[in-house]
Amino acid sequence: MLRIHELVVGQACPPGRLVRRGTGWRPLALPVRVFLLEHPDYGQFLWDTGYGPAFWRATRWFPARLLRWLIPPRLRPEEQLTRQVRVEQLAGLGISHFHPDHIGSVPDLPPLPTWVSGREWRRVQRLGPWQSLHTAHLKALFPRGEIRFFEDLPAPLWPGLEFLGPGWDWFGDGSARIFQLPGHTRGHLGLWMETLAGPLFAVGDAYYVPEQLDGVVLPVPTRWVVEDARAYQETLDKLKRLRRERPEVVLRACHEP
Ligand SMILES: [Zn+2]
Repeated sequence: MLRIHELVVGQACPPGRLVRRGTGWRPLALPVRVFLLEHPDYGQFLWDTGYGPAFWRATRWFPARLLRWLIPPRLRPEEQLTRQVRVEQLAGLGISHFHPDHIGSVPDLPPLPTWVSGREWRRVQRLGPWQSLHTAHLKALFPRGEIRFFEDLPAPLWPGLEFLGPGWDWFGDGSARIFQLPGHTRGHLGLWMETLAGPLFAVGDAYYVPEQLDGVVLPVPTRWVVEDARAYQETLDKLKRLRRERPEVVLRACHEP
């Protein structure tokens, strides 16, 4: 069993109408959620990092600065990850995908063993400058510490969750399972946590707003930035099925308001 702390590390503030129809051009503040996991034997781990000062440093100049314009970020001083977490106590970090709002604090942390999808990691490292910008990847924020691959862990089919596909067993006891939820990016991951209060599934950017699970389709410009539209819909369908069959599971998207 894990103890979980849900942290908000900044906000992404796109014009509302890019996410929710009929909300106009006013900015809609979407939280950037990060999970701090406390494992009884292995210690504290982070799932994603949110925005950090490193993001502002990395986007000072063009063309990277465009990433601030497209989805204006906000970070109150008290929201900084390094103020919410005692970084010297961290044992490791897991990453859902490599967009700046998920790894924007990585350079502000001490070097940590960092678990990633090896396939996604190799893919995003190969992106050229233009492709990186186009797919909103900022290599200055990429982890530089010791990289470990989820692919090296056992990946059973979990009873009752077979339709999610194999889930990597992060700590070897089933308390944290990493599922592939592709679409938003090709190798996008979700983290299933067994907590004292029941299962909690951090689904990252598999959807932005919960009404997408009821069939509401994202407005067009936002729909276009999905890397693989078909996989994105298949992932949504799996999460719909999960909500139907396992209503006790708490689903938590990174940015849901
Ligand atoms: Zn993302």
